[in-house]
Amino acid sequence: MATCSHLDLVEHLDLHEPVAGCEECLASGMRWVHLRMCQSCGRIGCCDDSPGRHASAHHAASGHPIVRSAEPAEDWSWCYVDELMFRLRPS
Ligand SMILES: [Zn+2]
Ligand SMILES: [Zn+2]
Ligand SMILES: [Zn+2]
Repeated sequence: MATCSHLDLVEHLDLHEPVAGCEECLASGMRWVHLRMCQSCGRIGCCDDSPGRHASAHHAASGHPIVRSAEPAEDWSWCYVDELMFRLRPS
């Protein structure tokens, strides 16, 4: 089974409450669908279903590999590099 090799880059496990929204969408008046949090730096961005796709854009710009869902009922993480979904804190 494939595993993510970037777990040592995770600095942020839990969401930083409250989550205001995608920082770049808020700055430019755009709307988002779902929110993701970069687990290396904690930046909030929007998902690939959102017009801005700012979480992917942040990954492309920064190289930070792993985001987690910033939706209240979701705790999954996603590695852009390995294209793997997993949970860092199984409940
Ligand atoms: Zn990985
Ligand atoms: Zn956005
Ligand atoms: Zn980041």
